[in-house]
Amino acid sequence: MGLNDEAGYVFDIQHFSIHDGPGIRTTVFLSGCSLRCRWCQNPESYHLRPRLSFCAEKCTKCMACLPACPEKAVSFENGVIRNNRELCTACGACIPVCPAEARSIIGREYTAEEVLKDVESDRVFYEGSGGGVTLSGGEVLFQPVFSTAVLKLCRENNLSTAVETTGNAAWQTVRDVLENTDLVLYDLKHMNSAEHKKGTGAGNERILENLKKIPKELNIPVIVRIPVIPGFNDSEENIRNSAGFILNELGPETPVNLLPYHRFGVGKWEQLEMSGPVFETEPPEDEAMQRLKEIFEKNNLNVQIGG
Ligand code: SF4
Ligand code: SF4
Repeated sequence: MGLNDEAGYVFDIQHFSIHDGPGIRTTVFLSGCSLRCRWCQNPESYHLRPRLSFCAEKCTKCMACLPACPEKAVSFENGVIRNNRELCTACGACIPVCPAEARSIIGREYTAEEVLKDVESDRVFYEGSGGGVTLSGGEVLFQPVFSTAVLKLCRENNLSTAVETTGNAAWQTVRDVLENTDLVLYDLKHMNSAEHKKGTGAGNERILENLKKIPKELNIPVIVRIPVIPGFNDSEENIRNSAGFILNELGPETPVNLLPYHRFGVGKWEQLEMSGPVFETEPPEDEAMQRLKEIFEKNNLNVQIGG
């Protein structure tokens, strides 16, 4: 099998993105992730395979979807439509019969060549702006063979690439994927491993070790991105520790992006009917973001709010 034929799962491709690396970019969102961040703004990436999305607010309870489902996954109970996620195969048969457009399938399989064709359509914008293609997710390292194939195809076709990653994988995997990209956008969520585990489901030891190795062993530029989640990682102590780590381990030239939490992902949790409580908090105030930014500036780090 050649690079072109490698296949993987993608849940979105966004064109004209300006927050995922330099210039105008196309961001390819890969499905699957090894972390379970409580505030995740792309919960559709939790599942590798395509998944039914159902908007209860749009549903008019016409019942057309019940007989359309070959798996008998749809039922009407206590006045509401229910989708049995154990039975649903995301076949999509219920979508065309729904007059309210309340149903859709998130994600699909792509070959690396299909991704290349899609992202190539904006080549002229990359060239004019210093932009390119960003692989994001989900977690790019969750589908390392597919990610590597897409990155190599982009490189062969003179498209600049960036990878956004949480770095939560074995070093061998991190190295095999990232050595094919031009820039790494590395998420740093919490410096305390126990707190990191509470918020994301995994400790941070491997993540920090991998981050230290990227500039040293791969010689690829890194931008550190810190999602600022009020009540989770926005204490001055954690931000000071983050700044110290970046300064000592990566160097003062390393750019840092502080990304304020937003609530755009909350509705997605409901539409995907994911289990567990939906995490919600208020976005951080501008003043609070400014105070955190100053901590990095006092450490002579090149920091900005936003990506
Ligand atoms: S996607 Fe297919 S299996 Fe799932 S509820 Fe709709 S018709 Fe049934
Ligand atoms: S077909 Fe659409 S509108 Fe009708 S019950 Fe099913 S989800 Fe609701």
